[in-house]
Amino acid sequence: MASPPPPVPAPGLIGGRRFEWGRRTFLMGVINCTEDSFSGDGLRADADAAVRQGLRMLAEGAHLLDVGAESTRPGFKPVPAEVELARVVPVIERLARETDAPLSIDSTKAEVVRAALDAGATVVNDVSGLRGEPGVAAAAAAAGATVVIMHNQRNRPFHDVVADIRDGLRAGCAVAEAVGIPPERLILDPGFGFGWRPEQSIEMLRRLAELRDLGRPLLVGTSRKSAIGAVLGLPVEERLLGTAATVATAIANGADIVRVHDVPEMAQVARMSDAVVRGWGSPPTIVLGVGGNLGDRLAHLRRGLALLAPEVTVAAASALYESAPLGVTDQPPFLNAALRVETRLTPPELLAKCKAVEEAAGRTPGPRWGPRVLDLDILLYGDLRLDDEALTVPHPRIAERGFVLRPLADLVPEIVPPGWERTVAAALAAVGEEGLARVAGPGWASPAGPTRA
Ligand code: ADP
Ligand code: MG
Repeated sequence: MASPPPPVPAPGLIGGRRFEWGRRTFLMGVINCTEDSFSGDGLRADADAAVRQGLRMLAEGAHLLDVGAESTRPGFKPVPAEVELARVVPVIERLARETDAPLSIDSTKAEVVRAALDAGATVVNDVSGLRGEPGVAAAAAAAGATVVIMHNQRNRPFHDVVADIRDGLRAGCAVAEAVGIPPERLILDPGFGFGWRPEQSIEMLRRLAELRDLGRPLLVGTSRKSAIGAVLGLPVEERLLGTAATVATAIANGADIVRVHDVPEMAQVARMSDAVVRGWGSPPTIVLGVGGNLGDRLAHLRRGLALLAPEVTVAAASALYESAPLGVTDQPPFLNAALRVETRLTPPELLAKCKAVEEAAGRTPGPRWGPRVLDLDILLYGDLRLDDEALTVPHPRIAERGFVLRPLADLVPEIVPPGWERTVAAALAAVGEEGLARVAGPGWASPAGPTRA
């Protein structure tokens, strides 16, 4: 019998940004402040150009930026720490001011890593896999940084591609553990091209899925590397399509992050690969808020639900909550709930439908935040972010309202609504649940459910 697939790592924070593994591929854009980068994109000491390139990459779809000043190509020229520092620190400082995207320092020198973390980097990408200078792990631990542990096969005895990578990554993880870096802050990189013959690098890509059971996100950097040149017989400037093929296969075999030079092209490759590998066309998560405070409140809510059908069907309902009115306080308490619905209506069509249902349920025009028989709001519509005169999605006042957040958290606690920095559950924890009472379970919304709350 086939063994079950290894679990997807839990969502994690990198530099304060949330990364939900397994749902899409993330792109790390490469910024080389070097003279001899193999890939031909070295920017030398031109900090302006490096910052511009970084910002452009973010606009083109990169999620993280990896800044380095020492080429790690085979036969690279070692760069003294002072030179690395002088090239990398100003670039990171300026990028940190201009973007919230996580910045990674690509260095094996503790001194450089420390300075980069001080300058605003939040990720350490160490191609010696925490097995080089001991100060690197210590600096990452002290700063609370995320660490990319790469297995580097250079000068190591060969046994088996995957077994050797696994041993190397485990050794790096042990160093991390010893200095107190929690496993949630580790990303693993098998080290394509680092000490392998081309056929071994290719084998690593073919067998990448075997590394999934290490339980951490996998970062793969194949971009423009010589193994691609070996297969295709093409120089570095002609390896774009070869790179695309390796990115696609890496994603199919479980890569979570791809480190690339050609961001717009690889963003397209990743998007297409994600569609195939992770699924595409799945319905958006649409959530409506319902409330009312006049007459037989529960009856009105239930009637609203019935009126939404057949175009809008309820997939799940939150519990039912009673809350004291907000704003206009001399009115009866509200009943509130949230509904996860399925519909083919577009957002404006859904809004029109909600208004029609409110009216059919007996709502008459009245003041905003005033008493009403039924209020139906679109809280979330998948990843949509919309702000026009008639409709704002996600609903603009969710974040301050416990009576919206509480029922929403019943349905989708782990979602980070588009434009938000935190999950629904975290927003609810911040606002609190004062003045809210749970008056019925989710059964209130089923046709056979209770008729009084
Ligand atoms: P509220 O729901 O804030 O108490 P109303 O129900 O009176 O206020 O809605 C006022 C208007 O808000 C609606 O006519 C609608 O055009 C607009 N609106 C904007 N965004 C949304 C949304 N996401 N859901 C529902 N109505 C919205
Ligand atoms: Mg409304």
